[in-house]
Amino acid sequence: MGFGLLGEHLSHSYSPQIHRELGDYSYELFEVAPSELESFLKNGAFSGLNVTIPYKKTVLAYCAELSDTAKSMGCVNTLLRRGDGSLYGDNTDYHGFSWLLDRNGGIAPGQKALVLGSGGAAGTVRRVLESRGAQVIEISRKGENNYVNLYDHRDAVLLVNATPVGMYPNNGGSLVDLSRLPKLRCVLDLIYNPCRTKLLLDAEALGLQWEDGLPMLVAQAKRAAELFTASSISDSRCEQILCKLKKEMRNLVLIGMPGSGKSSVGQALAARLNRPFVDADAEIVKEVGDIPTYFAQHGEEAFRQVETQILDRLGKASGLVIATGGGCVTRQENYPLLHQNSTIIRLNRELPLLPVEGRPISQSTPLEELFAKRDPLYRAFADHSINNDSTVEAAVERILEVL
Ligand code: NAP
Repeated sequence: MGFGLLGEHLSHSYSPQIHRELGDYSYELFEVAPSELESFLKNGAFSGLNVTIPYKKTVLAYCAELSDTAKSMGCVNTLLRRGDGSLYGDNTDYHGFSWLLDRNGGIAPGQKALVLGSGGAAGTVRRVLESRGAQVIEISRKGENNYVNLYDHRDAVLLVNATPVGMYPNNGGSLVDLSRLPKLRCVLDLIYNPCRTKLLLDAEALGLQWEDGLPMLVAQAKRAAELFTASSISDSRCEQILCKLKKEMRNLVLIGMPGSGKSSVGQALAARLNRPFVDADAEIVKEVGDIPTYFAQHGEEAFRQVETQILDRLGKASGLVIATGGGCVTRQENYPLLHQNSTIIRLNRELPLLPVEGRPISQSTPLEELFAKRDPLYRAFADHSINNDSTVEAAVERILEVL
């Protein structure tokens, strides 16, 4: 028999991918309607399950025994079928958040932490923090501590987002102005898609320690896998899986001067990594038709507006290789759209090698002048910079090396 994830509606889940890495067992998604839950729990063909929305509390009633953690939290995210057919319930989210907290410096007794939200995940976070002796303030829209008086807690050193605000597909939302919390050292967001929510982008810009919720997801799965297989899995294995998953989820975005090879290198890179390739300029053409004609009729500002809309859509995706237009760096607002979920790679090519045909900006502005304007912008956007002055294959190799 195998294992799996139980929920009512399971759209995209990373759990099968993570469990494939954790052990040699089958792991399926079980979408079960509330009316069929009892029969599934009693007679379902499984040896163990992870449990998600909306059943984390409902399954309590079907457990013959609970771990101390599940008992104290009043909810279960892992079930184990025992030899006599009865169910044992545990909560491995507790372990998941503990791991996320510890890899970000933990918290000292007496220090203040703000936890946004009052749902199930916020409860887990609160219990872990309280077990460390922290002073926990739960921020809730209708609570005594809310988003108006939150800034009275100027001594908070840690802030944890346990709400869905900022999560895909509603990227870009944030509940807090971090600059008004002067003692903040670290910001953790339980959301992992995008990998940098607006809250985390703000934390990064302020130079704070930050991390998304992917380590929590991987660590709770690891603890569940240990229960499923009655064996121990090292934290270093957890770290390897996390690293692999992060790489797979990130987009790879190519930026650079017009004609620097973003489309051809992007296509070859996507083929090499077996990923989908998207050319932002081709997406713009689908929207507005021929780019030089659109430029001539509507001007650069209108073109850039369309480009930003396209980058907004592409930047939210995961696992793509994206070639951008040479001028996307001229709008600062495009940076968070790309940075939130991507590694940005700049392609450099000597100016005499850059073609100008069919490129309205390159034709109207001397290339040296364009380069002088854009070079600092490319530098500011790029995570890595590589030369594309020989073959496409060589450029792909260089990119794979820096990644
Ligand atoms: P939940 O039970 O639905 O609770 C979410 C809480 O967020 C609500 O209680 C609500 O608190 C607040 N909230 C909801 N919508 C809001 C809005 N528009 N504005 C402000 N606050 C809002 O969800 P959950 O299961 O606790 O999960 C919360 C988040 O954590 C989700 O994004 C989930 O994906 C993530 N999560 C991640 C992991 C992981 O392993 N990384 C594990 C579990 C959960 P108030 O009504 O009190 O304001």
